[in-house]
Amino acid sequence: MKRAVLDELEKILGQERMSTKTADLYVYGFDASIHHKTPHVVVRPKDAHEVSEIVKLANRIRTPIIPRGAGTAMCGHTVPLKGGIIVDLTQMNKIKEVRIEDLYCVVEPGVVYDKLNAVLGKHGFWFPTSPGSGEACTIGGMVATNASGMRAIKYGATRDYVLGLEVVLPTGEIMHTGTRTLKNSSGYQLDRLMVGSEGTLGIVTEITLKLAFKPKASAMTLAAFDSLYDAGKCVSNIIKRPLMPSAIELMDSVCIKAVNKCMNVGLPDKAAILMIEVDGHPAAVEDELKIVEEICRQSGAVSTEPTRDKKRIDFWTYSRKAIMPALSRYGEKFVSVALADDMSVPISKIPEAVVAFQKIAERNGVVIGTYGHSADGNLHTKMLVEPFSQDSWRRGEKAVTEIFDKVIELGGTVTGEHGVSITKAPYMQKERADSIETMRRIKKALDPKNIMNPGKMFEWQGSIIAHLRYPAFSERAAPASVVDQEEHRACSK
Ligand SMILES: Cc1cc2nc3c(=O)[nH]c(=O)nc-3n(C[C@H](O)[C@H](O)[C@H](O)COP(=O)(O)OP(=O)(O)OC[C@H]3O[C@@H](n4cnc5c(N)ncnc54)[C@H](O)[C@@H]3O)c2cc1C
Repeated sequence: MKRAVLDELEKILGQERMSTKTADLYVYGFDASIHHKTPHVVVRPKDAHEVSEIVKLANRIRTPIIPRGAGTAMCGHTVPLKGGIIVDLTQMNKIKEVRIEDLYCVVEPGVVYDKLNAVLGKHGFWFPTSPGSGEACTIGGMVATNASGMRAIKYGATRDYVLGLEVVLPTGEIMHTGTRTLKNSSGYQLDRLMVGSEGTLGIVTEITLKLAFKPKASAMTLAAFDSLYDAGKCVSNIIKRPLMPSAIELMDSVCIKAVNKCMNVGLPDKAAILMIEVDGHPAAVEDELKIVEEICRQSGAVSTEPTRDKKRIDFWTYSRKAIMPALSRYGEKFVSVALADDMSVPISKIPEAVVAFQKIAERNGVVIGTYGHSADGNLHTKMLVEPFSQDSWRRGEKAVTEIFDKVIELGGTVTGEHGVSITKAPYMQKERADSIETMRRIKKALDPKNIMNPGKMFEWQGSIIAHLRYPAFSERAAPASVVDQEEHRACSK
């Protein structure tokens, strides 16, 4: 990047809120995905005016610009594929208003999810979408990915809470969408367009969120099954009762073994477990807990452990959240990576889907841990690959393709909450074949110079095993090897 451009950025921000240091550029090249690429400069604006000035400059010189929150996205969302300017929004972290009497709050994009809920909780309210990354992820990142989590079945996704946005468009103009009222039929719902746009249409600089009432009580049952299929069936048996749980988390045996091995938490060592949460008025919670227990037994659960104890519920939730890091310690040679990690299927298709994923894993000689927010049909698969082996990555990619083909065949989507970016691009293009062209036209209309987070979603072409953060395809790569099924079997014992 030319010195003159850096000088202009310095005029907007001052020296202390921008960096071209090698170490900074290196770390800002990562998010939680398998990809990595280094930007030219990192900037940390403190208000919408500064963001607007940065974007105007990028637009004038046609330089890529990548908005970034906490960098917890899992598909390469913040990886600067074509270099350019990373706009780190974490310094814009003020909660500007909490209007409980009007059921809304106004926040800057860098506010962290858990911190917002700590403030709302004091008033008896919350923003209930509950992403697994809530300790770190920002509200701006959640809006841009339409994030949700374990409680989406009852409480919905981020899009259901966005009442209005302030957005810096790719020209640098500042636009306001939506309202501060709970209802609004006033023209195109542009905030809905921005939700899930993954930093490709503009930079969100302020968010008005609807508030939800915090439930007074909650309880959980831990149900264990000898069959993954039965566990999947139990989920739809609960929903069709009808009964609205606040969450049902599923873990297969690979995930159970990995978490037990890594954290020694003593989860039942069975084919699958479900953590089923109900919440609401204390009397309703008691009633629903009994019904859940009964359905679990009828669906083939070999054990159930109900609890109202918040510490116990938190402990199980913590064990569930440990899956991702724990999977990387499943076997010596493997790392757990976000491949095919976030599909959603109609709830009744969960049993068929989870069994199909296991068969695909076996057929391709890879290890897959399946878990997820099964109450709303959202499943996560984490693949264990040998990071130095090209062969392992290639077999992983083949398995991913087969998994997503199955998901589409079952009437599902390739991403329920994490989004598309690079790692899901080819599969989203398959799923959305007849709407890609409309997406392209919208992008072109708003960002004709293609400066906002370019190269992702419908623009990505080719294999997803590209710009890897792992050295499999560099000089340090290991010779191709067959994934060690012996080791998998040893780990499964
Ligand atoms: C351990 C772990 C668990 C996770 N669990 C969940 C889960 O349960 N549910 C879920 O939905 N996701 C989950 N994720 C994925 C991720 O945390 C979410 O997508 C989250 O919303 C990203 O927020 P972030 O602040 O880290 O955004 P980033 O990763 O920084 O950015 C994500 C995308 O948003 C864009 N962006 C960021 N801020 C802005 C802005 N202000 N304006 C415009 N665009 C912007 C970026 O350009 C990028 O495309 C998980 C990730 C991890 C690592």
